[in-house]
Amino acid sequence: MRCEVVAVGTELLLGQIVDTNSAFIGEQLALAGIDCLFQAKVGDNPDRIRSAIASALERADAVVVCGGLGPTQDDITRDMIAEVMGVPLDRDPDLEDRIRAMFGSRGRDMPANNLRQADVPRGAAIMDQMPGTAPGLVCPVGDKVIYAVPGVPWEMQQMVEGTVIPDLRRRAGDTAVIRSRVIRTWGQSESGIAEQLAPYHEELEASGHCTLAFLASGIDGLKVRLTAKAATADEADDLLAREVEVVAGILGPSVFTVHDQSMEQVVLELCRRQGLTLGTAESMTGGLIAARLTAVPGASDVFRGAVVSYASEVKYDVLGVPRGPVVSEEAATAMAEGACRVLGCDVAVAVTGVAGPEPQEGQKPGTVWLGTCVDGEAGALLVRLPGDRERVRQFATISVLDLLRRQLVARG
Ligand code: ATP
Repeated sequence: MRCEVVAVGTELLLGQIVDTNSAFIGEQLALAGIDCLFQAKVGDNPDRIRSAIASALERADAVVVCGGLGPTQDDITRDMIAEVMGVPLDRDPDLEDRIRAMFGSRGRDMPANNLRQADVPRGAAIMDQMPGTAPGLVCPVGDKVIYAVPGVPWEMQQMVEGTVIPDLRRRAGDTAVIRSRVIRTWGQSESGIAEQLAPYHEELEASGHCTLAFLASGIDGLKVRLTAKAATADEADDLLAREVEVVAGILGPSVFTVHDQSMEQVVLELCRRQGLTLGTAESMTGGLIAARLTAVPGASDVFRGAVVSYASEVKYDVLGVPRGPVVSEEAATAMAEGACRVLGCDVAVAVTGVAGPEPQEGQKPGTVWLGTCVDGEAGALLVRLPGDRERVRQFATISVLDLLRRQLVARG
């Protein structure tokens, strides 16, 4: 079974948006064992969309077209699919009602243009998932098929996972179950992880039960994904449980979760289990750590608050940092201690450093002190983080949470 992807949108060609949809679809196809040998991007032009879809369909058994299903005049994907199929578009009354109802429930009038989204190539089926106003379409062409999904990533993802992949696998006669588990790590480079896992990776490839993939995910950590294919879901889950344990054992303390949780979820859970309340003292992160912690539902039983001590005076006057350099071990340590005192919490993290682009106190951008205070004992660690201002701020956030995590794990 071969499937191609056609991403529609002039903005993709102009580099105004990055085509993450094709990457997602490519990944899902690979996971399902479906070959994807071509991916194309095409602007909002009728002839070129039609020819991109037609030539993809000549080479492959299936084509996923994403984007151009919106209500405006330049959203012409459905018209071009109908032309490739050689059928007219019919207005679907149920779909029309659903689109009207969707606007009604949001208390908004429906622009007449939106009814174009109820036009369906004759013979096509509508996908069950419809998170937005653009329906996904399954369009048979002889023994081949074209899937049309919207460009909006989260709408596209639901349809690809919920309809496209299961339908393709059914067509391929594949009844096996595919499951995957994600292990997240922090503190090691992708090449370091790959090297550590190299002998195991070879064994795994040889066994043919599971596949292993690395995914650098910025502030979400470096992910190691194990995927298993088996006759039943239980069998696949058992296989994965065994392999996840082996991988976590090899990677050791850099693994922060085997359940695909975020770093802040893990830290909050550790605090909760140990009966500890948590606070932050933030200089260059300006509240980012607190924002990430409070984005987790139920954080309130652990998280007390943050002191955003951006100006040196605030560090001195509110947190009790000794007057002197503020990008220093002493300052980070005193900030963590000060946070525990001011916020009345048991443990705290603190960040002070140089986010850039300009140096500060003669120190280079990326120079960051991470402070922690656990059980009244405070300390700080110097890290040198790569990248621009935003990356340094983000990496400082996850790094200081990771530092606290390791201390809490050791504390037991
Ligand atoms: P809708 O009906 O919801 O407007 P649509 O099918 O018309 O969806 P587009 O108008 O092509 O989709 O794109 C909507 C938005 O989705 C774009 O502005 C862009 O932010 C995002 N998007 C579109 N295509 C892609 C892509 N290939 N990769 C990532 N994001 C995309």
